[in-house]
Amino acid sequence: MAALKKTSWIWIDGEFKPWDEAKIHVLTHALHYGTGVFEGIRAYMSDGKIYVFRLKEHIERLFKSAKIYFMDIPYTIEEICRIVIELIRVNDVREDCYIRPIVFRGYGYIGLNPLNNPIQVAIAVFPFGKYLSSGGVRCCVSSWRRIPGYSLPPQAKACGNYINSVLAKIEALKSGYDEAILLDDKGYVSEGSGENLFIVKDGKLYTPPIYSDILEGITRASIIEIASDLGYEVYERPIARVELYTCDEAFFTGTAAEITPILEIDGRKIGDGEEGPITKRIRCMFEEAVRGKLPSYMKWLTEVSI
Ligand code: PMP
Repeated sequence: MAALKKTSWIWIDGEFKPWDEAKIHVLTHALHYGTGVFEGIRAYMSDGKIYVFRLKEHIERLFKSAKIYFMDIPYTIEEICRIVIELIRVNDVREDCYIRPIVFRGYGYIGLNPLNNPIQVAIAVFPFGKYLSSGGVRCCVSSWRRIPGYSLPPQAKACGNYINSVLAKIEALKSGYDEAILLDDKGYVSEGSGENLFIVKDGKLYTPPIYSDILEGITRASIIEIASDLGYEVYERPIARVELYTCDEAFFTGTAAEITPILEIDGRKIGDGEEGPITKRIRCMFEEAVRGKLPSYMKWLTEVSI
């Protein structure tokens, strides 16, 4: 994973501030209790243009996450979308980048009632390449289970949720794997530490449903659409752990991970241990779609004039 690459400006609470001056107090509520919600969005440079992938859907999810935690964002969805576009422009970004909007409870009161703490909103954009190895990853099933929805709703992309992912990721890395796969509390496959998961069996695709405590990924939805358009059947249903070991192909989807083939799980090769043909076909189509090469998926892109 690469270190952050600075850009010039970060937008925070209504102002564009120089990158190094976008700071918050150490007694910020969200720092102590995880009371924030955020998004990760990619923008792609292609033929001299910047395309933001599914901007509106990401900002809508941000608002839904905020609603779950009674956080009233003092801007509209349209305003936040416009600020993202403006931020890309003022930073004069001319390469693939990642956009990180965050809404969090700020400074003012200490203790678990967050309702009197101010809502702060910040957005950063920075150059970003691959998150996971593009050739594919070796995974383990984590000993940590995905947080169940009756304890913390995984459908909210909330800061505090990620402590669960961090435990699983560290465990995977320290055991010599690239990524963790978490099971839900019933033992069915849920998702990766920051990605949704698909398996391929006999030419059909399967992915865990919402009730397997996944974040409802925007890339996941895009892949369901692309795979269906390519004529594959896609099923959202609980996936047993052993199906991971015996499937023909498996891959992760996510904004950071994009489409990453899974080559091995708990020491078992998936297929012949290389990216499978269906994964490759879907991945190539996704990669063309995000760079504005496929007219039928231009609906997913917001062009930023630079
Ligand atoms: N699950 C988790 C836990 C994630 O953090 C992410 C990344 N946002 C995903 C799935 C994939 O979601 P998306 O495709 O919307 O990035």
